[in-house]
Amino acid sequence: MKVHHLNCGSLNTPTESMVCHVLLVETDNGLVLVDSGFGLQDVADPAGRLGFTRHLVKPVLDEAETAARQIEALGFARADVRHIVITHFDIDHIGGLADFPAAQVHVTAAEWLAATAPKALTEKLRYRQVQWAHRPNIVEHDPRGEPWRGFAAAKELVDIAPGIALVSLPGHTRGHACVAVDAGQRWILHCGDAFYHRSTLDGQSAAPRLWRASETLIAFNRKFGRIMPAWPSFTGAVNRT
Ligand SMILES: [Zn+2]
Repeated sequence: MKVHHLNCGSLNTPTESMVCHVLLVETDNGLVLVDSGFGLQDVADPAGRLGFTRHLVKPVLDEAETAARQIEALGFARADVRHIVITHFDIDHIGGLADFPAAQVHVTAAEWLAATAPKALTEKLRYRQVQWAHRPNIVEHDPRGEPWRGFAAAKELVDIAPGIALVSLPGHTRGHACVAVDAGQRWILHCGDAFYHRSTLDGQSAAPRLWRASETLIAFNRKFGRIMPAWPSFTGAVNRT
């Protein structure tokens, strides 16, 4: 499958500039988005849609960066997006959902429950129900399935397309998951916010202290937040809240 790498939200955090990494996948069953970044409604109403968190991550909020506009620029229609697979429901991952109201939105059942019935303080602060006020067509998944390629559990989303799998990796949020995509010559693992800095993988440098602190502070489960197996190709080495 052909995979486009999109930046759907530049962030100017206190330590570094970051991007909201989104995958656009061309399948035989239409277009599939993996995460959605910030959307047109976020750009139009940052205070109402994003709340206080926008002051921490300082998104640029340029309409041209939204998935909607980038997909149109590639010559597709927004209606061509049939499915959106979401790693987790933080504000910089689901802002674009409202721009594709007909798409099915795939997420773990645990993450949907966390977003709609938050328990922990971090959950009550991080999720913004206004971002799914348009009532998207949610499809819940339980990825506690078969061991797969070194992961404890994964579920291939064959109803979308063969070669797209949801990999359970809770820690950053209650139902956080990674999304594996068969890109032909290699597999791509879109890991959401499973880690914040490339040093988590390569060990060649130290993550900025502020990043490590925020990674710990915002994690739903700090014990499991940083477990990553060996994998031939990672995406999302630049992460966000
Ligand atoms: Zn996050």
